[in-house]
Amino acid sequence: MTPPRTVGVVGGGRMGAGIAHAFLLAGAEVVIVERDEDAADAAAERVRTSIERSLDRGDAARSLAEIEAAFSTATDAAAFVDCELVIEAVPEDRVLKTEALTRAERAMPPTAVLATNTSSLSIDDLAEGLERSQLFLGLHFFNPVPASTLVEIVVGAATAPEAVAAARGWVDAIGKTAIVVRDSPGFASSRLGLALGLEAIRMLEDGVASAEDIDTAMMLGYRHPVGPLRTTDLVGLDVRLAIAEELHERLGARFEPPALLRRLVAEGNLGRKTGRGFYEWENDR
Ligand code: NAD
Repeated sequence: MTPPRTVGVVGGGRMGAGIAHAFLLAGAEVVIVERDEDAADAAAERVRTSIERSLDRGDAARSLAEIEAAFSTATDAAAFVDCELVIEAVPEDRVLKTEALTRAERAMPPTAVLATNTSSLSIDDLAEGLERSQLFLGLHFFNPVPASTLVEIVVGAATAPEAVAAARGWVDAIGKTAIVVRDSPGFASSRLGLALGLEAIRMLEDGVASAEDIDTAMMLGYRHPVGPLRTTDLVGLDVRLAIAEELHERLGARFEPPALLRRLVAEGNLGRKTGRGFYEWENDR
């Protein structure tokens, strides 16, 4: 499979820069549109740093000069005029995303596919204000993008099978594996990961076993590379609590956040980023 010839990315933060990196390495031209010049410079620097890292590791088939020639930044969506695919990766705010998607859709060719990297918003809700809901879907990349091989393709009620097929081919072309998920709360990854994480926390609350032993049960018993409590520390307890609250509201009591999770978050113990969660991370941040 070949990647799209030209890819647009709205927002070159942590995820947008990673997505740009993935398509550049696969041979596409990439343009990132940022909100202003300073943010565009910062996005370019993020992409350059991660490209250099890939080149150092010998992961890139193209030279630095070729990649630099294929990459640009802009502050106006007009730069998407030739894109086959545009991926929105601005912060997780519905109004911000709707505005960014609308600006992108007006500038890009009518036949181009528009995607959002949202981790929690409904594709159908975001599609409401769009003209091209048939060519709109979720492309949920994982963090950090260069090291993560999964991409969830999230299919809205109006998304055409042709758009899903194109997206599958493009994910394949950047060396990642796509799964196709119907638009639903938590998609596949957050919903399943959270179900396991919340039950592990409830088991710790009930005194069933220590955090280490609960994690070891899944690592050795089910070959998970990392246990659910350590994963929660890595993701951030606050992030997991926010997703749990949303899924609790939308999917019911089985996602009710355990009291222990709420307490740790209230105490500021958010996992690795604060040095303490279910584990101590003082020397490993
Ligand atoms: P981030 O804050 O690192 O990056 C967002 C970027 O968007 C910033 O560079 C910002 O300047 C830019 N931006 C803001 N408003 C803009 C506008 N109007 N036009 C153009 N650019 C604009 O955020 P992130 O972590 O990269 O997350 C981006 C999206 O990806 C969110 O929807 C998030 O939920 C999703 N996501 C994040 C992760 C993660 O672990 N960080 C994982 C999967 C999905």
